[in-house]
Amino acid sequence: MSYHVNEKGYYGEFGGAYIPEMLYPNVEELRQNYLAVMQELSFQKKFKELLKEYVGRPTPLYYAKRLSEKYNTKIYLKREDLCHTGAHKVNNTIGQILMAKHLGKNRIIAETGAGQHGVATATVCALMGIACIVYMGAIDMERQAPNVARMKMLGATVVPATSGSKTLKDATNEAIRDWINNPTNTHYIIGSVVGPHPYPDMVARFQSVISEEIKTQLQEKEVRENPDYVVACVGGGSNAAGAYYHYLDRPNVGIIAVEAAGKGIQSGESAATSALGKPGIIHGSKTLLMQTADGQITEPYSISAGLDYPGVGPMHAHLYASGRGEFISITDTEAMEAGLELSKLEGIIPAIETSHALAIFKNRPFKKDDIVVINLSGRGDKDLNTYIDYFNL
Ligand SMILES: *Cc1c(COP(=O)(O)O)cnc(C)c1O
Repeated sequence: MSYHVNEKGYYGEFGGAYIPEMLYPNVEELRQNYLAVMQELSFQKKFKELLKEYVGRPTPLYYAKRLSEKYNTKIYLKREDLCHTGAHKVNNTIGQILMAKHLGKNRIIAETGAGQHGVATATVCALMGIACIVYMGAIDMERQAPNVARMKMLGATVVPATSGSKTLKDATNEAIRDWINNPTNTHYIIGSVVGPHPYPDMVARFQSVISEEIKTQLQEKEVRENPDYVVACVGGGSNAAGAYYHYLDRPNVGIIAVEAAGKGIQSGESAATSALGKPGIIHGSKTLLMQTADGQITEPYSISAGLDYPGVGPMHAHLYASGRGEFISITDTEAMEAGLELSKLEGIIPAIETSHALAIFKNRPFKKDDIVVINLSGRGDKDLNTYIDYFNL
């Protein structure tokens, strides 16, 4: 069995492209071209060059000595927090802006919830001098004012979504409407391994630079390419997909996905999609989805904005359903403690999303000579106020 996407755009029973007829030409153009474009030497050269010179790759694979001693196993941290803009998201937006240029697009749209993907998109649009429109829920714009300011500084137009709950779902609807109205000159940059095929596969491939680097770096440090486990937090699942990618079909490498339990899986305030979700359709793909008995999407909750999503990418739904992945959910409290612990033990303040992945060591024992790679998806600067309020700093 392969855990990669098949010809039809499915991972097992999940994936596909469930889109309105009006969107079909746009998605189909991308589907027909993305693999060929990504394989072109000139494309690869530009992508690699920007990852090196602009993003700052390769990011280190750092042996966390004090954390390893505490949990009596060998822990490596893949330092995506050191990427330009502070997280892994820019790997994908660099790839997609090059794809857009290749397809002759001169206008970029995106939607954003907490603003992180909006900033990563506005960043690469500034880099390339391409017009950028970011849709954002009006309520999210108030809650995430610093990211709105960043996008404006970067030259993007931020358009408030004022319908419905004025949050991510409404911003997504606005972006889709825009794309339908501007089918020829516009590319829609999706920020995670979600959306209709080919987005999940395309985004996973752009992020797969993470596991490609881990292989080489582990070979240098441990004289083996494969860790025993690779661990990542999962919101939509892009940093996880990138960290797992080259290990998906290597059964000796354990795959651990960490979801946000929020205030507890049974609390009604959670974003633990594997535990609570059922098959359904969201953002154009069939996947696991938190929903009511009559199929209405349930409002998710997590202290970390990046994990606060009611679905999960179709690759991850398949990793869960097939048993290939081990899924663990971590509460707000456990994550916050783990974030503080990493800060004190290693001098690294992680994003709260990442803190969820770090929290597994408290209750999930590993063997002394296991090699466990944690994808450190982002840095904690953006979360400082949440840490301050939580710990009364
Ligand atoms: C956005 C974000 C995430 C969640 O997104 P994925 O697509 O699941 O990776 C995780 N960590 C950080 C630091 C983020 O900014």
